Amino acid sequence: MFKEEIEKLIQKKLLRVIKDRNAYREHFYKEDALDKSFPFDFKSKSLSHILIEGQKFVNFSSNDYLGLSHNQRVIEAVKEVIEIFGIGAGASRLLSGGTELHQELEKKVAKFKGTEAALIFNSGYTLNTSVIPAISDEKSVIFSDELNHASIIDGCRLSAAKKIIYRHTDMNHLSELIKKEEGRRKIVITDTVFSMDGDIAPLKDLYNICLENDAILYLDDAHGTGVLGNGRGALYHFGLNPTNWIIQMGTFSKALGSFGAFIAADKEIIKWLINKSRGLIFSTALPATIVAASIKALEIVESDFSLIDSLWENRQRLFNGLKKLGFNTLKSQTPIIPLVPPHLYSEDAVENVNILSEMLRKKHIYAPGIRPPTVKIPRIRFSVTAAHTSEEIDYLLKSLTELKLR
Ligand code: PMP
Repeated sequence: MFKEEIEKLIQKKLLRVIKDRNAYREHFYKEDALDKSFPFDFKSKSLSHILIEGQKFVNFSSNDYLGLSHNQRVIEAVKEVIEIFGIGAGASRLLSGGTELHQELEKKVAKFKGTEAALIFNSGYTLNTSVIPAISDEKSVIFSDELNHASIIDGCRLSAAKKIIYRHTDMNHLSELIKKEEGRRKIVITDTVFSMDGDIAPLKDLYNICLENDAILYLDDAHGTGVLGNGRGALYHFGLNPTNWIIQMGTFSKALGSFGAFIAADKEIIKWLINKSRGLIFSTALPATIVAASIKALEIVESDFSLIDSLWENRQRLFNGLKKLGFNTLKSQTPIIPLVPPHLYSEDAVENVNILSEMLRKKHIYAPGIRPPTVKIPRIRFSVTAAHTSEEIDYLLKSLTELKLR
């Protein structure tokens, strides 16, 4: 089954394969089996390094922007509750799966995001595919940026609403389209930080358009939470206040280093979502250990800006270096920095990306190519984190120089 389809993917060089990393702690792997040509101190364990098939790489492909996935305070918080709550939640939140920690996390998220209430979900994907259909019906119309994340696209597909796609961050286009739709509930949906391009949605304009047109603004702040606005996200980055017609979603799985997602909004909206979000009602709740990790991660982000400062210093170092080398980084404004390779090796853009990624891999740099159908323009997507050292960033820049791409 699917043999021919798989063959076609192979021919187009679009076949995806999973390369799981090895456990990092020394006693989980045999050192003598490892490739010793890693360019940094071989013995060092760093959050920005990964092991795949016995080889060590500097990882430029992680959304763990603040390195909180391995933060000792977060790990201790998990250890404290694992004996109490065990592993699995055992049931959905509406049955017996929730704990007092789930409620504590929701209170913390609401405070952090400046909203009346919050609700947690098992993942960002589950959230978008549950909440978007829950807040819209056949009398609604959704306006969605053309580069919105796949989970938003799928959420729109599951919704009974009319769907209208506007050109990426094109506010004139959105204004034109929204004026034509009278008498329906209007919902404008956008990523705040676009996950493949690293640019930021023009939230002030979106805010004004929604205000003028009596529309709901739904923000996917997955890559803004913990990164923009002193960690509080894109609204704060733009100096905007939450209101009862803004719905903010975010994930715990990226800058917060944990897992799961949240909606922060008005109390009424949260009440409605508890009753209508199928991904909440019909799925087992998040384990309490994960919830405890998210609580601790939020506490760290709220009280210590040093990680966010390091993240932005590193981002600027890489971005300035790439610009100096003359690379096309699309419109990146954040730690997500795409690099569109020049057509040096072949006229085929996918082939170019595959070759460049492979050349970097030979230099122990892990930065996979992103190709269609995920994006239209094939690219290498670097994501830089607070855990990278300046030496690692300079090594990437030096390696790109040595590859003589220009
Ligand atoms: N929204 C955006 C913008 C994302 O980048 C992602 C993750 N890639 C998600 C939603 C889904 O979040 P999760 O990984 O928690 O399912």
